[in-house]
Amino acid sequence: MKALLAATGNSHKLRELRALLSPHGIRILGREDVGGIPDVVEDGDTFAANAVKKAFEVARATGHRCLADDSGLEVFSLAGVPGVYSARYAGENATDEQNVEKLLRNLKDSNLTDRGARFVCVVAVAVPTALVGTAFGEVRGTIIRAPRGNGGFGYDPVFVPDGYDKTFAELPADTKNRLSHRSAALRAALAQGLLDA
Ligand code: IMP
Repeated sequence: MKALLAATGNSHKLRELRALLSPHGIRILGREDVGGIPDVVEDGDTFAANAVKKAFEVARATGHRCLADDSGLEVFSLAGVPGVYSARYAGENATDEQNVEKLLRNLKDSNLTDRGARFVCVVAVAVPTALVGTAFGEVRGTIIRAPRGNGGFGYDPVFVPDGYDKTFAELPADTKNRLSHRSAALRAALAQGLLDA
């Protein structure tokens, strides 16, 4: 079985990456399997810049082939906010609940009727000496007015994907995994051969 080290400390992302890639014969290693994974400062202006930085720095520090995911939510009527700041929208150590609360307050205060949004994901693959490549995925939907559901993480309780009437936090995990920005990015990465070798 092929193995890739996930350059993430986010246990939710790790679980989704494992569920999405194990059917393709790819084993995802995490912090519990490999020591010496550095905390990478995500100071890029784009999802791609942050994904590349994470994959490359972790590959160099550990000697492993690495997969990084940088992802977030873009609300169209807020000009793409919170975007690359999704994890720390309500402050450096903000919880998911605080981030969601700030987003709902902002949409309410701005009296915005267009609540269209998308989740975006860029995955980057790197070996210690080179960047192998990047792939992009998105899923479009709507931000509802109050959180619903207990599954998933982050903004899942307020995001209803197009064509559905339940949030990502209400839908079964395998339905989210079929529709998500993360699965779209991984499908693109597989199609480009980034996960071979
Ligand atoms: P990153 O670790 O810098 O890529 O930050 C990702 C942040 O975007 C997370 O902390 C969530 O707030 C949000 N996010 C990314 N993917 C998802 C998802 O699948 N569901 C809900 N929120 C997500």
